[in-house]
Amino acid sequence: MGSVNFKFLLLIILFSNVSAYADFKIPSYKSDKVFIIVSDSGTYSSLLRKYSNGISEDFLVQKKNSFYLTPHYNFIDYSFNGERISLLKFNFDFLNIKDNVIKFIQPELFIKVLYVINGRYHLRITDAMRTLEQQNKYMRRGWSSRESSPHLFGLAFDINDYTKEEREDMRLRSRILGLKFLEHGRHRHIHLEDSAKWINNPEVYTDNCCNVINQNLEFKNSVLFHPVNIQPFESYNNFIPVNLKINETGVVKIVYESNYKKYFEIICGVFEPGDKKIFINKYLTNLNPGFYKIYLNDKLIDLI
Ligand SMILES: [Zn+2]
Repeated sequence: MGSVNFKFLLLIILFSNVSAYADFKIPSYKSDKVFIIVSDSGTYSSLLRKYSNGISEDFLVQKKNSFYLTPHYNFIDYSFNGERISLLKFNFDFLNIKDNVIKFIQPELFIKVLYVINGRYHLRITDAMRTLEQQNKYMRRGWSSRESSPHLFGLAFDINDYTKEEREDMRLRSRILGLKFLEHGRHRHIHLEDSAKWINNPEVYTDNCCNVINQNLEFKNSVLFHPVNIQPFESYNNFIPVNLKINETGVVKIVYESNYKKYFEIICGVFEPGDKKIFINKYLTNLNPGFYKIYLNDKLIDLI
């Protein structure tokens, strides 16, 4: 099609069909997208998983007073026999990510990785998600000895350019969270891995799963929006305060449900021992009476 025809076509779209045009607008984010606030000066990351008409997820990073949102359309998910894998696009601009890295990872692992990195955002992220094609190439070149890899499923993450002290701190933090920590010689790097899911579900983590994910990766890694910096809340009145007593380092999970239905869950950042205060956005509970169950490392610690 010639360029004149194309411009003509564009004009028709712009003037005759406003709704088609609206789809191309970048959505605006209201403060209610800040679904949780931690009253602390550290970095916290949280996954909101809503259960209504299927499952929808948003991811939020709170870094001091800034909030970074990865909305639901930047996720990839795959389900098989009731098991579900979800992958978060993590291209946050405060991270130092090598150009060719495919920026997808399972959100539960990313929450832990941010704790392991511990604010050292100068560290270089050299590998995350891998396609089957890449894995096969690594095998042929002898860089990887395995046909399958947790990298294929967003369950591994590589970091380099660290000092000895940084390495030891990351090793300790990985151990606390039960992550596998390996240091590899080739382009010296640290490999962090959450192997349990991958090893325990061989019927889910298959080549077919890779193929489905890979089909989505190509498009989603390049095209979709970057995370958005959003304004925090207008008022604490919009939030429900929750006090937490943390007695061991771990991941906090908040589940909101009634006797009949689970409405949503928030998997929060890693918390260290002490008294903590968090705020949950009230819009989430709109008109749905229920109660909060709070878990630390999958153990119920409070009911509100
Ligand atoms: Zn690795």
